[in-house]
Amino acid sequence: MDYPATINDLSRLCIHTQTTRPWDLRQCIENYAGSGIHRISVWRHLLENTDPKGIRRILKDHAMEVVSLVRGGFFASSHPGQREAAIADNLEAIREAEALGAPVLVVVCGADPGQSPVESVDQIREGIASVLPAASEVGVRLAIEPLHPMYAAGRSAIVTMKQANDLAESLDSDLVGVAVDVFHVWWDVELEREIGRCGAAGKLFAFHLSDWKTEMTDLLNDRGLMGEGCIDLKRIRGWMEQAGFEGSHEVEIFSNRYWKGNQGEFVRKICDAYLKHA
Ligand code: ZN
Repeated sequence: MDYPATINDLSRLCIHTQTTRPWDLRQCIENYAGSGIHRISVWRHLLENTDPKGIRRILKDHAMEVVSLVRGGFFASSHPGQREAAIADNLEAIREAEALGAPVLVVVCGADPGQSPVESVDQIREGIASVLPAASEVGVRLAIEPLHPMYAAGRSAIVTMKQANDLAESLDSDLVGVAVDVFHVWWDVELEREIGRCGAAGKLFAFHLSDWKTEMTDLLNDRGLMGEGCIDLKRIRGWMEQAGFEGSHEVEIFSNRYWKGNQGEFVRKICDAYLKHA
């Protein structure tokens, strides 16, 4: 397959607030907008002690569109009380998404190493099903994000696009789809096929960008800037576009290395790397 057309501008570029972790929400909004970026995915902890109306005003003043709220999920647990708490937290996340004007809630499904992955997946399905009516009431879509299998013990029993598609399809709702994060799924030889399947079902809800450094120093917080690793980003973007995806290109980089430096400089590097490598 040929590579897709080159990206010439920042109009579809979105940044996850966690990418510039040292900044609070207002700093993220102001600085992204100042760099010509008008899409943002907001991590929930930044909403603590903020007034949704005030935040919406700051977003509007900077012509900033909220792409998604990150994150709900963590439904799997061998303890019934924890599963109930997760459902309550997801209902809260859906309310937050509505208040913020976020059309999508990203769902990191959860896992419990004290039980089998099969049990975890069943609990994840039940958890999503039980918050679906609330999501439906306010029109917030739920994007299941498969994580790399290295996180299967604690963060997600959903580790491939195929599993995410199976789960999303089994819930049989237009509001349930998938978030494709290249860091988590680039290695999968079935990725092209599963992206195609997801698009055909109308379930490609999100596309997250970073890179996979072949010599990683931290399994969580050493993601690469686009071009620093081995992921063929253009090829995967081509598959997304072929499958009908027209949404945002969300940069989500957790990096102790970049968090130590100047965040404004980091955002400039993100813009350059995005235009060059994504
Ligand atoms: Zn992601």
